[in-house]
Amino acid sequence: MTYVPKPSVFDKVARKLRRFQNVRRINFKITAPIISITFDDFPKSAVTVGAREMDARGMRGTFYTCAGLAGQTNHHGPLFDAADLPGLEAAGHEIAGHTFSHVDMLTLSEAELADELLKNSAALKEMGVRQEIENFAFPFGQNSAGLKARLGSEFKSLRGITDGIHTGSADLNELKSCGYYSGTAERVLGRVKALKTTPAWLTVFTHDIQPEPTQWGCTPQDFIALLDAVEASGARVMTVRDALKTLENEHD
Ligand SMILES: [Zn+2]
Repeated sequence: MTYVPKPSVFDKVARKLRRFQNVRRINFKITAPIISITFDDFPKSAVTVGAREMDARGMRGTFYTCAGLAGQTNHHGPLFDAADLPGLEAAGHEIAGHTFSHVDMLTLSEAELADELLKNSAALKEMGVRQEIENFAFPFGQNSAGLKARLGSEFKSLRGITDGIHTGSADLNELKSCGYYSGTAERVLGRVKALKTTPAWLTVFTHDIQPEPTQWGCTPQDFIALLDAVEASGARVMTVRDALKTLENEHD
């Protein structure tokens, strides 16, 4: 989405502090790397290119979905349709939460926040999603210590947009994730390759996958390069839901 919150000096300090506030840490001893490929919002091309390419390789991903965006078109191109969801789920992909209308949650009252979450879950159910919405990603990565605590009690994990990998632990209230865009592909592919020597849980996120992607998307060739690198790394590819279940059993 084009909205980019303007950070003030206070925001920057708050963002640094937040990493240490309302943390919900899990520790694990990871023996073989895990990669979770995730899509936010999500554009139709995340299905027609993303899911199709992953299906062909037996890989499953997590789709952080705003039900309110169904059937719409924005700068990412056409977005998903309600009819896409049951097929994704039947193929083993995970449908996760991202608020109903893709809103910066820092601007919401508690009542508005509750409404965004409830409305999204109810609408996704109506669109045919059968599994519970267990995991969530902050729209625009915007969060606060208060939001981490508030949402952490509702979801198994909350994913942010801070770049990084999880080696021996993760904060379930703000999972790190590497934005995989045409402009960042090389750097993220380097992280994927490094998993061979340093096993970790890596999550990536992207948006549109099209020949002329937005700055928050990548080309089909970039996406295929990601899947090739993932295969070469020997990592297990899992939805966030399955990665968490696996990591729970790989603790010290
Ligand atoms: Zn988003």
